[in-house]
Amino acid sequence: MGDDIGSVDVSFHGVRGSTPCSCPTLQRYGGNTSCVSLEAAGHDPIVFDLGTGMRPWGRSMPPEDPLTLHALVTHFHWDHVQGLPFFTPLQSANTALHVYGPGDRDASMEDTFGQFMCPPYFPIRVSDLPASVLFHDAHSSDFELDGTEIMSRPVPHCGKTNGYRVTRNGVSVAYIPDHQEPIDRSTHVDPAVLELCADVDVLIHDAQLWSDELAAKSTWGHCTPEYAVEVAAQAGVHTLVLFHHDPSHTDEDLDEMSERIEATAISRGISNVICATEGLKLSVGSRHGS
Ligand SMILES: [Zn+2]
Ligand SMILES: [Zn+2]
Repeated sequence: MGDDIGSVDVSFHGVRGSTPCSCPTLQRYGGNTSCVSLEAAGHDPIVFDLGTGMRPWGRSMPPEDPLTLHALVTHFHWDHVQGLPFFTPLQSANTALHVYGPGDRDASMEDTFGQFMCPPYFPIRVSDLPASVLFHDAHSSDFELDGTEIMSRPVPHCGKTNGYRVTRNGVSVAYIPDHQEPIDRSTHVDPAVLELCADVDVLIHDAQLWSDELAAKSTWGHCTPEYAVEVAAQAGVHTLVLFHHDPSHTDEDLDEMSERIEATAISRGISNVICATEGLKLSVGSRHGS
């Protein structure tokens, strides 16, 4: 990318894991699933995952304005892909959406998407949408989009799963929403994960399970907020955002998680920990520029 220095807006449109949920006790943190956009003046938007947070984000956009955007999809679990057909800009022929990610095993991204967005699971196919939607396979690769550096690496979860690191305007953001904590509860962190997170300004990371829940769900592909802090500490992360909240965790539970984890994070040298809420927007400036 170029040497331009500026800020990047990181907006959280869906922060919930597993399934969208609606309940008065969950409203403050929100019930839509994984979807986070990165926007910077003069660049196409980039979005992490296509969860149901895509729907409210799309409704906030002017309906017919020309739009090109790039989606970095981690994997095909429902909570990361279900929002695509409800993204209203796809009802316009002026929209081009490029979708990057890993297909299932040896299948391409396009074929894998086509297997789940089709009758009888859904009334239309991707090709029936007025917009142009183009798929690109990316698993362990480095590439550039519209002057932005993208790094994708495999991360431990259930099935083929990517994590991402995006560097734009001198600002780096890593996104690892689903991350299997070591079964033996060790502090080992996969080298590919550390590569994604090394010295990033913002790490958005799985924090789905309390410690006492992990015992019964040790192979479900997720981790505790304490392990998220471990990853952030080993990688030298500046701001950690706890993400992919369990549908059973209420607003009060997540307030408690925030309070409990703050002292641990500070003791490990992480200056800023945020428990993600739907509607949160972080304007992140470069720490490396003037
Ligand atoms: Zn998930
Ligand atoms: Zn998953």
